[in-house]
Amino acid sequence: MQAKDIAELLNEPACTHNTKSKSGCARPKPGATAGGCSFDGAQIALLPIADVAHIVHGPIACAGSSWDNRGTRSSGSTLFRIGMTTDLTEQDVIMGRGEKRLFHAIKQAVNTYSPAAVFVYNTCVPALTGDDISAVCKAAAEQCGVAVVPVDCAGFYGTKNLGNRIAGDAMFKHVIGTAEPLPVPPAAQRDGITVHDVNLIGEYNIAGEFWNVLPLFDELGLRILCSLSGDARFREVQTMHRAEANMVVCAKALLNVARKLQTDYQIPFFEGSFYGVTDTSQAFREFAQLLDDPSLTARTEAMIAREEAKINTLLDPWRDQLRGKRVLLYTGGVKSWSIVSALQDLGLEVVATGTNKSTEEDKARIREIMGEKTKMITDGSPKALLGAVKEYQADILIAGGRNMYTALKARIPFLDINQEREFGYEGYSGMTELARQLALTLQSPVWEAVRKPAPWAINHA
Ligand code: SF4
Repeated sequence: MQAKDIAELLNEPACTHNTKSKSGCARPKPGATAGGCSFDGAQIALLPIADVAHIVHGPIACAGSSWDNRGTRSSGSTLFRIGMTTDLTEQDVIMGRGEKRLFHAIKQAVNTYSPAAVFVYNTCVPALTGDDISAVCKAAAEQCGVAVVPVDCAGFYGTKNLGNRIAGDAMFKHVIGTAEPLPVPPAAQRDGITVHDVNLIGEYNIAGEFWNVLPLFDELGLRILCSLSGDARFREVQTMHRAEANMVVCAKALLNVARKLQTDYQIPFFEGSFYGVTDTSQAFREFAQLLDDPSLTARTEAMIAREEAKINTLLDPWRDQLRGKRVLLYTGGVKSWSIVSALQDLGLEVVATGTNKSTEEDKARIREIMGEKTKMITDGSPKALLGAVKEYQADILIAGGRNMYTALKARIPFLDINQEREFGYEGYSGMTELARQLALTLQSPVWEAVRKPAPWAINHA
């Protein structure tokens, strides 16, 4: 990838701070990819496309860096869960065999698994030795008769966030617009409903949580052409250009896809979230507004009234148990504000939120939800997090799995909110699961037991 291509991705026009200041998104600093390299970001963004063979072209350690580290779920094909790599060694580098190995790896993947397509992820070593992965992909596609997509995302190009955008760029250049959607099935057009085609961008179906929301789309007559990339299929990605509206679920990942679909295909988009009652209702309202269909608006309002009444009845007993509990939230991106809204819906008080991986847009949304005096934490070190829990007198730390032992060793209740979690919190029904998990964590008898002095620490004299 050329330096100008990287600069273009970093200056994403859809980021409001770029339109305001032209300063561009944060530049990667050499060696500052501890949160994940560009390859990691690209693979995370695309790996959930379930019927694709994902081949990592590089030494074996790169594949281990990001394979299957999200709890994303598929309703069908599980091909994406098979880790594939060209496993380059020093001998391959010395003998210049990288391209040959890649070509054979693609052939082997096609012959063994008959994938809908093959995605090839470039990594640091072949990028430095100059392997032409685009040429190899083109030759392999011609010979195998299957789409082979190069994703040029060597780790040293920059951060994980840049990798997300490289992934989106690869989809836009090589996949989107290469097939047409299937006709709407007659059964979907019941009662004369006009079916509208929509896309979700940056939705990863963690722990299958999007399936909480999917039936509501079906009920309203909204056909999801593609959810990029949770539970997606290659053919669905090909048809994204035919949607009438897009929802960007995670603003950091793949915003460039939404922006290009808007400029090249005139598909409007909005940013939203399915975490929390308020935000879930708002997301459906925004779809209705963008699609400008009075009958859809009426159906949407009826559905929201019904679902909110139902969920509020179910949540009231949980609210009685959780009201007033103080939360320190340390997560990134869209979750830094969307989870705040969900917690506020449950009556909890969010005393501070982490913004280390949040965009300027995310921070603006946080201020909107929590007020101008919001405490935003950027230092995620164990010492800083424990200090913040103490300073703000938080009852619980809600963060990613890597902070779990920090909290547990300090005897602080902890709930995992990131991609490795086992429970889905999206949609109206996801709120009951979130409330249940919060109550289980906060009310566990273990806290009282472990906070007592240890038997050997009691002076028996
Ligand atoms: S792509 Fe580069 S930075 Fe990323 S895991 Fe591989 S060697 Fe490390």
